[in-house]
Amino acid sequence: MKPKAKRSPSQLEACWKEKDLISGRVSDAMVVIMRTNGCCWAKTGGCSMCGYRTASLTQVTEDDLNRQIDEALSRYEGEPFVKFYTSGSFLDENEIPATVRERIFKEFSGCERILFESRPEFVTSEVLVTIPKNATIALGLESSDPEILDVSINKGFTPEDSRRAGILIGEHGLMVRTYLILKPLFLTESAAMDDTVRSALFADGFSDEISINPLNIQRGTLAERLWRAGEARSPWIWSLIEVLRRLSGNVGARLMSSPSGGGTARGVHNCGKCDGDALDAVERFSFSQNINDLEVSCGCIGAWQTYIEAERILGTASDLDRGFDNDLALGCEKDGRI
Ligand code: SF4
Ligand SMILES: [Zn+2]
Repeated sequence: MKPKAKRSPSQLEACWKEKDLISGRVSDAMVVIMRTNGCCWAKTGGCSMCGYRTASLTQVTEDDLNRQIDEALSRYEGEPFVKFYTSGSFLDENEIPATVRERIFKEFSGCERILFESRPEFVTSEVLVTIPKNATIALGLESSDPEILDVSINKGFTPEDSRRAGILIGEHGLMVRTYLILKPLFLTESAAMDDTVRSALFADGFSDEISINPLNIQRGTLAERLWRAGEARSPWIWSLIEVLRRLSGNVGARLMSSPSGGGTARGVHNCGKCDGDALDAVERFSFSQNINDLEVSCGCIGAWQTYIEAERILGTASDLDRGFDNDLALGCEKDGRI
């Protein structure tokens, strides 16, 4: 077997271009994934679905981070929106020291919008006054249910912690994007949809945008272990569409979803034939907020309804597809769909 290439701490993990919105206008965006010393919470075990523990390094210096910024600048083509992710918290000084943060803000001061993510414990007034007003801070609330946050996700903070952080960010004139997970471990499709709807209504009180992330099975996680054992399944795309439908018109925040691993066995998926169309519909809706853009049809919608009913009767959140057609599920892996 070929040995794995060593990842350099002075190189970005990834950098790509995509579209996003600025004040309702579709704009070019650059996404920068930085290599840092990693999420403090991941080091103590981390969230059940998060594979970032394996993505983090341990000895990333300030010099390394500055070289990563140089690399980001060399890729930058004037996109008005730049997003910085660190596989952790941008506001954690152990990942991004204040001096590096300041440099990023200075270098990208011409952007209309800049976005980064943080756990709520790093969101303080002392830090917020140092952040430019074009910034959006993303909060990984995941669920507004304290028990789900604790037992299914092992998030290490409470919904109230996120609310406090969100309100404080708003008071400092900055925007909030809240991430919610659809179908964390141990929840059926039906319970997962209800949870995400409730969570979005909770987040709406302090969020400008709500982004729904369907469970994506990442390597080296508890979620992967249960998934391999047939005890977890990423949600159907129909469930995601249903959640967006239920929320449309009922929240002030912009609703969006850009699923990782969509259409694969590890990510949100339907029957395989309609996945592309269904995911396109979600993307169109994320930009337009027009519920009509969620219109898409396929015969497997009946299978989804039956699946929900079967989960209810059997009282289980295990992967029923796997139980009934093991060859099909394993075939996905052979096909390279995971
Ligand atoms: S999901 Fe976020 S908070 Fe949880 S372990 Fe991963 S990076 Fe850390
Ligand atoms: Zn289908």
